[in-house]
Amino acid sequence: MAKWVYLFKEGDAGMRNLLGGKGANLAEMTNLGLPIPQGFTVTTEACTDYYNSGKKITDEIKDQIFAALVELENMQGKKFGDNTDPLLVSVRSGARASMPGMMDTILNLGLNDVAVEGFAQKTGNPRFAYDSYRRFIQMYSDVVMEVSKTKFDAILESVKEAKGYKLDTELTADDLKEVIAKYKELYKKELGQDFPQDAKEQLMGAVTAVFRSWDNPRAIVYRRMNDIPGDWGTAVNVQAMVFGNMGNTSGTGVAFTRNPATGENGVFGEYLINAQGEDVVAGIRTPQPITKLAEDLPECYKEFMEISKKLEDHYADMQDMEFTIQEGKLYFLQTRSGKRTAQAALNIACDLVDEGKITPETAVSRIEAKSLDQLLHPTFDPAALKAGRVLGSALPASPGAAAGKVYFTAEDAKAAAEKGERVVLVRLETSPEDIEGMHAAEGILTVRGGMTSHAAVVARGMGTCCVSGCGEIKIDEEAKYFELAGEHIVEGDYISLDGSTGNIYLGDIKTVEASVGGNFGRIMAWADEFRKLQVRTNADTPADAKNAVNLGAEGIGLCRTEHMFFESDRIEKIRKMILSNTVEAREAALADLIPFQKGDFKALYEVMEGKPVTIRFLDPPLHEFIPTQESDIAALAKDMNLTVEEVKATCDSLHEFNPMMGHRGCRLAVTYPEIAKMQTRAVMEAAIEVKSEKGFAIIPEIMIPLVGEKKELQFVKNVVVETAEAVKAEKGSDIEYHIGTMMEIPRACLMADEIAEEADFFSFGTNDLTQMTFGFSRDDAGKFLDSYYKEKIYESDPFARLDQAGVGQLVKMAAEKGRTTKPGLKLGICGEHGGDPSTVEFCHNIGLNYVSCSPFRVPIAKLAAAQAAIKNSGK
Ligand code: PEP
Ligand code: MG
Repeated sequence: MAKWVYLFKEGDAGMRNLLGGKGANLAEMTNLGLPIPQGFTVTTEACTDYYNSGKKITDEIKDQIFAALVELENMQGKKFGDNTDPLLVSVRSGARASMPGMMDTILNLGLNDVAVEGFAQKTGNPRFAYDSYRRFIQMYSDVVMEVSKTKFDAILESVKEAKGYKLDTELTADDLKEVIAKYKELYKKELGQDFPQDAKEQLMGAVTAVFRSWDNPRAIVYRRMNDIPGDWGTAVNVQAMVFGNMGNTSGTGVAFTRNPATGENGVFGEYLINAQGEDVVAGIRTPQPITKLAEDLPECYKEFMEISKKLEDHYADMQDMEFTIQEGKLYFLQTRSGKRTAQAALNIACDLVDEGKITPETAVSRIEAKSLDQLLHPTFDPAALKAGRVLGSALPASPGAAAGKVYFTAEDAKAAAEKGERVVLVRLETSPEDIEGMHAAEGILTVRGGMTSHAAVVARGMGTCCVSGCGEIKIDEEAKYFELAGEHIVEGDYISLDGSTGNIYLGDIKTVEASVGGNFGRIMAWADEFRKLQVRTNADTPADAKNAVNLGAEGIGLCRTEHMFFESDRIEKIRKMILSNTVEAREAALADLIPFQKGDFKALYEVMEGKPVTIRFLDPPLHEFIPTQESDIAALAKDMNLTVEEVKATCDSLHEFNPMMGHRGCRLAVTYPEIAKMQTRAVMEAAIEVKSEKGFAIIPEIMIPLVGEKKELQFVKNVVVETAEAVKAEKGSDIEYHIGTMMEIPRACLMADEIAEEADFFSFGTNDLTQMTFGFSRDDAGKFLDSYYKEKIYESDPFARLDQAGVGQLVKMAAEKGRTTKPGLKLGICGEHGGDPSTVEFCHNIGLNYVSCSPFRVPIAKLAAAQAAIKNSGK
């Protein structure tokens, strides 16, 4: 028979997966001989079983719960449900990873109309007993039966008002009896049944509520944002109650062993005398700093300090502890590794290394890679954020916090920013012509688009906050307003965006600038020592590349050459090339492009100082580049000596039903080899010149996109080789160059052994590979994926976190097939997944050589790569 329930004394800290974090730590503290109110843990497996059994707790589990209860009764010398001296318990959830959003706590469970009398007599404190009962009814009704807490608050307030009281503490035992009667009336009215009097029924109700809360919408969102699998389940902890509200030698509080905001060493916390846990959280009374306890209850303070030190030393990490003092006796209710800011995490990890408590490997493993975003981008002032009103939420496409006035066109945004205004650009979707407005903006909000759509990719490259794909917005860009959550927002109104959570707020919420502290460098240096994967960046401009190098990039893994033409003075030129009807016209347009390309490539090579640079040949999804605005069409017509109608007709002829699968990537080079010729010339001339001018050891890497067939690659490669050799001969250079391919079409992965014959390297383009493997449009998936999360079909956005089971299998297979043909084949990934920690770990595990990601994610990828290497080495 499976064991579903463990007494605290039967577990230990190593059983976290089974007992949840809280349960495992309560067991560990019990083993350490610390003062813990005893209890038992219903396992995470029981939660999984609950879901597998059609949301039912089986009799076997119930029996084990009641058996553990008997043991607890024996330990406490009290009976559960007893009428004279009842054993009361708290019920709390506790998953493997701490998870806000789930049911938290029910206190005082086990009281009923009769037991409360016995409890009053036993404690000699009727007021306390009735107060405990009324709190229990309220909490149970709220969290178990989902009757809103505010309805109970209203009753409490009305009784206080009728009596002329200000504070809850003025309520007498009789007043509280009246409150209880009204609470029970409300319960019956709302639920059509009496408040349960059977303690066991109460207990099973509470356990069920904890299991149920594992799947509430808040918990599902939290799991998705923090990569927590849905099948982990939560444990339930049932613990004997101790009371902090039994007078002035009782109290309750929370404390950290170090400051969670700064990492400063020293106990940091607060407590309230004569209070129960919820009073501290509710913020009704102002808690005292923990140091004051030395005056109030010096013995307890001394013991508390000793135990907190013991706990920190034992876990070798900063602890977050909850404690209660009942009539002068101290109890610890829980301990866990404390949540902390990224800055505090770096400082604590380094301090613990210096104190000889952990190794540098452990220090590196402890930092949550994603949290480095907090150091590299602005964040919201936490107090200001709390007061903010959330209007809606969409995809957290590029991290950071932004607040500013709303503008609806790139030009307006740019003009306002030039006047010194902080600007948020709101668009239906962005396109290359918005680039300057995007640059000028603090944040970007789009109605359409996914994690790899234009706005997301470009904003991430620039390090600008972006929230994309908010389908609930009704926008009229012409009339310059949008509507969301009943608000009508016009140009010039303030909104704030959180690119890390995807939240959209009304108003101007204060932001705090990013700052990278000293210990960042120490942790990154350790990460560099431990990691095996190289980390490159996706950068298209010298400025982005420079930024990435400053953040530690070891090369460019993807330069999207079409992005080099986003600026307004250049976009016309690439449009001219795209719209050319004849080879001559195209060659003339290309001749116009070459100086820009060459100049940019030279600048990139100079910034990279001999580090590898992979240049991806043109891959413009046509819908992003074809002009749509009348003024652009007119300008182009003039420039091309054509009529507006002629230009429109060409645009129409280029219209594609499915541009993402249309005439892009190497298909362009197959149709118009002159494009590949021009780009090869620009790449080679730039490399030869910079090599001779600056002496950098440059080996250009030319990357052909969207290949699905060896002959296709062969065709383009021939064009490249012919041109490259011609340039070398012209310049008298013997420069080496590599030609590789993107692996972004499922067929390429299937044929990887053949394709490798023609490729010096593979770079996995997991954006397109995900799009084509799932058959989801990169730009539209956001619209329906929410339903998939809700229905638990998918747990996370496959465009943000690589789908290892499906798309990952293609990557792994292609890597293996490629290396069968060429054992030394260089392998990398350059899709947006390259900066996602779980994907980085996957890339390490399957033996890729590098990951490439947007500049601001370089430190995150490095840290994740080091963590993967440490995990693999078992250190
Ligand atoms: C990809 O498809 O993963 C990729 C990197 O190319 P792009 O995003 O430019 O299509
Ligand atoms: Mg692609």
